[in-house]
Amino acid sequence: MDPDKNLDLVKRKISKAARDVGRIEDEVSLVAVSKTIGAEAIQRVIAGGQHVFGENRVQEAAAKWPGLKVETPDIVLHLIGSLQSNKAADAVALFDVIETVDRDRIARVIGEEMKKQQKAVRLYVQVNTGEEEQKAGITPKETVRFVERCRETHGLEIEGLMCIPPIDENPGPHFALLRQLAREAGVQKLSMGMSDDFEIAIGFGATSVRVGSAIFGTRG
Ligand SMILES: *Cc1c(COP(=O)(O)O)cnc(C)c1O
Repeated sequence: MDPDKNLDLVKRKISKAARDVGRIEDEVSLVAVSKTIGAEAIQRVIAGGQHVFGENRVQEAAAKWPGLKVETPDIVLHLIGSLQSNKAADAVALFDVIETVDRDRIARVIGEEMKKQQKAVRLYVQVNTGEEEQKAGITPKETVRFVERCRETHGLEIEGLMCIPPIDENPGPHFALLRQLAREAGVQKLSMGMSDDFEIAIGFGATSVRVGSAIFGTRG
């Protein structure tokens, strides 16, 4: 296992996938997903030049990242797992981007916390493109109205949409749907694509891809 070598390989694949569809490679940013990964492997990836990371649990991130951030203050942390309102204060304090806004209650609490802490966090709405019961995210049908409510009712700026397609389906139609919803909602960024399908997602317009196991190896 060589996470820094894997990082270089993933970055090259991202560049190639972007060029292949006539996009500029700098348009696609890499979020290295470090959930369950220990500080040592993360440090190697930081040393390899990666400064943007994703975590799916507030508590785990709060235990790991403040220490790592001391050495590298320009780290950008994305929350990519679903957020409960009672963890919103910690999430706003720790993360630079929250990708999992998916209901009014959490939108309201995030807005209140940002005011209280005087901290702007960049926000994405998570869309449950496969309408899977067990999966977080707003339904496709409600997405445009929810983004409007985030803006008008909760005073939040929504930067992008995020999705996790069903694991057993061709992801292409899900990426296409997310792109379409972003257009309708007037939202610029698309967080889509993981280790197995980030090149496909780039073809559908992903502006950031969330890659874990292709960098850090299979999680135990
Ligand atoms: C774990 C996770 C990823 C990364 O998955 P890999 O298949 O390891 O690349 C991406 N997005 C979310 C929301 C995740 O929870």
